[in-house]
Amino acid sequence: MTKLAGKVALVTGGSRGIGAAIAKRLAREGAAVALTYVNRKDKADAVVRDIEAADGRALAILADSGDVEAVRAAVAETVRAFGRLDILVNNAGVGRFAPIEEFSVEEFDRLVAINVRGVFVAVKEAVAHMGEGGRVITIGSVNADRMPTLGGGLYAMTKAAVAGLTRGLARDLGPRGITVNNVQPGPVDTDLNPANTAFAAELRKLMALPRYGTGDEIAAMVAYLAGPEAGFVTGASLTIDGGYAA
Ligand code: NDP
Repeated sequence: MTKLAGKVALVTGGSRGIGAAIAKRLAREGAAVALTYVNRKDKADAVVRDIEAADGRALAILADSGDVEAVRAAVAETVRAFGRLDILVNNAGVGRFAPIEEFSVEEFDRLVAINVRGVFVAVKEAVAHMGEGGRVITIGSVNADRMPTLGGGLYAMTKAAVAGLTRGLARDLGPRGITVNNVQPGPVDTDLNPANTAFAAELRKLMALPRYGTGDEIAAMVAYLAGPEAGFVTGASLTIDGGYAA
């Protein structure tokens, strides 16, 4: 698997969960991978070690996606370390589920800063370095299209925002040969959404395939979008959800 040989990728939130699986998969495909983290340096370093143990190249960067300057610096550090940038994966994201009465304006701002503004800033910085064949891939959520549980309105709003941003940016960047896509997972077993809770049992009842997905399954779709075979896919929101939205 070397379809990304010679490419450089930046994966935000690559220390755990879906982002860690994406970072490792892109590295297996031959890309040099920079990954950001905000809390878990230990986990980010472990992902780097895993990649290096398989003869890949990787770099962990502390960068809070809610901090504009940190996101800018992460893109610059990636280019400084690996000499170019071909693939941006906007994976970092947070979820807070609460009734609107309990949702503060500060929490709204923080959710939007990470899940939406962080994506905007990363794309703006990254595409300045991308040429023909560049790839922007955002991890949205099936919750952009379906939100069957209570308290998820604000989270769903952020994921619908990146779906819209994806459509518009595909138009802006298409003439430069850069594709822009949005991957919308359903329930995936991570620290954010563990598969062994009562909430998870309720979600499984909503699915055509009554099981949680894995980070590796999401990473496989991202690897496809990052590769040359997906050159005609752009502006799309691709749902990978075990039939949660079916
Ligand atoms: P996890 O909570 O398991 O992992 C989150 C990752 O993002 C960690 O690497 C974490 O870093 C990083 N991160 C969190 N906040 C920030 C921040 N402010 N700046 C930079 N990095 C940050 O989440 P998942 O893997 O489950 O989710 C990844 C993405 O997938 C998110 O966008 C989420 O909304 C989306 N998603 C998840 C689904 C699921 O069921 N799990 C379903 C649909 C979408 P650190 O380790 O340093 O804390």
